[in-house]
Amino acid sequence: MLTGYRFRLYPTKAQQQILLRWIGCQRLIYNAKVQEDRYYRAFQRRFVGTAGMTIPVDQEYARFISEETAFLREVPSQVLRNGTVRFRQAYQRFFQKRGGRPKLKKKSGRQAVWLTSELFQFIPLTDKATGEVNGYQLHVGTTKFPVGMIPYVAHRPHAVPASIYIAVEGGQWWLSFAADDSTVAIPGNGADVATERIADDLRHLSAEQLTERTLGGDRGVAKPLMTSDGHIFDLQPVQKARIAKHRRQRQKWQRRAARRKKGSKNQQKAYRKVARYQRYEKNVRQDYAHQTSHRLVVNNAYDLYVFEDLKIAHMTKRPKAKKDVQGRFLPNGRQAKAALHRAILSSAWGEVVAFTRYKALRRGKLVITVPPQSSSQECAVCTFTSPDNRRSQAEFVCQRCGHRDNADHNAACVIAKRGIHTLLSGIPLTKEHKRMRIFRKLGPERSEVTPGEIRVRRLPPMAEPQGSQNQEPPGAIPETPASAS
Ligand SMILES: [Zn+2]
Repeated sequence: MLTGYRFRLYPTKAQQQILLRWIGCQRLIYNAKVQEDRYYRAFQRRFVGTAGMTIPVDQEYARFISEETAFLREVPSQVLRNGTVRFRQAYQRFFQKRGGRPKLKKKSGRQAVWLTSELFQFIPLTDKATGEVNGYQLHVGTTKFPVGMIPYVAHRPHAVPASIYIAVEGGQWWLSFAADDSTVAIPGNGADVATERIADDLRHLSAEQLTERTLGGDRGVAKPLMTSDGHIFDLQPVQKARIAKHRRQRQKWQRRAARRKKGSKNQQKAYRKVARYQRYEKNVRQDYAHQTSHRLVVNNAYDLYVFEDLKIAHMTKRPKAKKDVQGRFLPNGRQAKAALHRAILSSAWGEVVAFTRYKALRRGKLVITVPPQSSSQECAVCTFTSPDNRRSQAEFVCQRCGHRDNADHNAACVIAKRGIHTLLSGIPLTKEHKRMRIFRKLGPERSEVTPGEIRVRRLPPMAEPQGSQNQEPPGAIPETPASAS
C-alpha cells in the first residue's frame, strides 16, 4: 500500500540557506504560473470566442527569467520545472473536482520544495555482518548545485521514493514522501477495492455476530470520544492544563507581535514564539488521535467501526454577520461559537476517524460513517426517537420502553446499529470516483496521447457519451479540438 512518511530533517545553516532559496524560486515559478493563468482567463471572459487562444498550462518557465529574476539561474533547472509541474498537477486536481483552482502560495506558514529523483539520492547503508540494508543516507543536489548529505531521523523503515518534499515550518525541517509499504498486504492503490472486499466478508456474518463485532463511537464536546463498549477516550488532564497555558502564552505573544514594528527582527522573533506555542497544541492533538485510533484497531474483539459523518468544516464555520435595518452590526454569538469550535477542533474529531480508517484497513477491518441526525435522541433498544428521551446532558431515559443509559453511551450504540444497517443494505461504501478528464496539450507531448484516445476525440460531438465539452467549467482551458490534430 502507498504510505506517507514524514521524518525530521536536520540541515546545517548553510544547507538551510540553499534549500530556502530553492523553496523561494519554486514558489516564484508556481505563482508566476497562477498569475499568468488569471490574466489569460480575464482576457478570455472579455472577448468571448477568442479562437485559437489557449492558456499555457505547460512546463515552460524560461519566459519568467528576466533581468530582475536573474537569481533563478542560481538554482537547478529541475527545481523550477517542478514548480510548473506542481501548478499543472494542481490544475488537474481542479478538473477532477478534487480541489479548487490553483492559488498564489504565500510566503508565510509551511514552505516546501518538491524534488524529483534527479535532485536527490538515497544511498543504502548496509550492515557489514549480515549485508542487509538497515537505512539510507540522503544526499541532495546536483553536480553543479550540491547541497550534500542531510541527516534525517527515520523512525520506521521505508522504501526509496521517486520524489520527496523538503519543508520548513516554524523553524523545523521535514522530509516527506509517499512510498510503497511492502509490509502491508493491500496492493498499491487498492484501498477502495480492499474496503469493498472486507465489507463483503462482513456481510456473510449473522446479525448477532455482526453486532458483537461492531464498535460505535460517539464524538462529543465534553467527552471527545465514547465507544459503545463504554470506553471514554480523552486527553490527559496534564495535557489539557498545558494546552490552556500555551494558549495564554500564544495570545500574549500575538499581542506583542502586533505592537512591534512591521517586518522587524523583533516582530519576527515574536511570531516565531507564537508558532511554537501553537505547535504544542497541534502535536498533542495529533498524538491523541494516533493513540486513540491505534487502541481502537488493535482490539481484536471488533471488525467494524462506526462513526457519525460529521461535517466538521461546516460545523466550525464562522457565523454569518447579523445586521439591523440601518445596516449596523448586531451580536451574532460569535464569541460563544468560537469556544465551541475550539473544543471541536481540539478534540481532533476528524483526525481520529481518518487515522482509524487507514489503520483498520491495514488489519483487514472496516470503518464506516453514518448520518448523524438525532442519534442522541434515539433509543438504542426500541428506536423510539424524541427530544424528551434526553433528560439532561448526561442522562438518557426512553419515554416508550424505559431504557435508561448514559446519553453518550446510548448514542454510541445507536451509531453502531446504524452502521450495521448501512453495511447490510449493500450500498457501495466507497464513493464512485469522479470521471478523469483527459487533459493533454498538443505539441511535443503528443506522444503521451494513445491512439485510442485520439479515436475517441475524433468522433462527432453527438456520439460522445455525455459530451465533456458542455460539462466544462466556464473559462476553463479548452479541450484540444480534434481538427487541430
Ligand atoms: Zn426505548
